[in-house]
Amino acid sequence: MRIQQLVILLAGAAFMLSACNTNRYAKTNRVYKKQLKALTDQMREPLPYITPRLTTTYDSLGMPVVSEDREARHRKQWVGAIHFNLRKPNYVIIHHTAQDSLEQTLRTFTVPHAQVSSHYVIGRDGEVVQLLNDYVRGWHAGAGKWGSVTDLNSVSLGIELDNNGSEPFSEAQLHSLLGLLDTLKRKYNIPTANFIGHSDIAPTRKVDPSAFFPWKRLADHGFGYWPGDSLSLPPEHFNPMDALRIIGYDTSNPEAAIRAFKLHFIQHDVSPTLSEDDICVLYNLYLNY
Ligand SMILES: [Zn+2]
Repeated sequence: MRIQQLVILLAGAAFMLSACNTNRYAKTNRVYKKQLKALTDQMREPLPYITPRLTTTYDSLGMPVVSEDREARHRKQWVGAIHFNLRKPNYVIIHHTAQDSLEQTLRTFTVPHAQVSSHYVIGRDGEVVQLLNDYVRGWHAGAGKWGSVTDLNSVSLGIELDNNGSEPFSEAQLHSLLGLLDTLKRKYNIPTANFIGHSDIAPTRKVDPSAFFPWKRLADHGFGYWPGDSLSLPPEHFNPMDALRIIGYDTSNPEAAIRAFKLHFIQHDVSPTLSEDDICVLYNLYLNY
């Protein structure tokens, strides 16, 4: 083989190798970095909040007339306090992807029209992929309510589990999830009660994670509450809808709230009514709040 042929062959091989190594998400990774930079630039801007100074004068009858001191309104003054850090996530919301592969989910999170994202996705094999910095606001919760919190995206981390919605979650996946939750709970000091599902915060719209999701196992590790093994009977005056509301459920649609509660804590039955047994489970769960 002539030297020239060998060079061409080697160059071809090198090209093939580099093509294989090309990250298919290189372009969207650049978009991520650009957007993150825009956000940090936004935070760098000192935006003075100027309170208009009010002055009080008195009219000819001695009645007070309050007016704005226009000069004070235009006075630019900014005082930077020196003690601060980043806001922390205080909730974790668990989802199932309702898709067939991790790759499919990653594609969804990187195409422009989808308008959804989460901080983490965990594959069936236990692989954990982080997509967003914990400190940025992901778009995973959508419209929803938990207690008095109406913007869950602003205060939560979203974790998507690769699962089609009608199959059990794999052991490898749950093992990775428990490890990740442990890290997040410690790092951000997230309260035990604040590990919840997408269906909990959006009962009229969402049913993820499915009834296959082992919430009791999570609670055993300190992620969310569970009613306990020996159940006490609720007192006569116990009001189930009040209990659901105190736990966090949006009870404006009572049937949807009951379904969401049952998907999480009863699981084998998600009908929109509460049996005596369901009420007993609810009461014992409610005792944690
Ligand atoms: Zn979801």
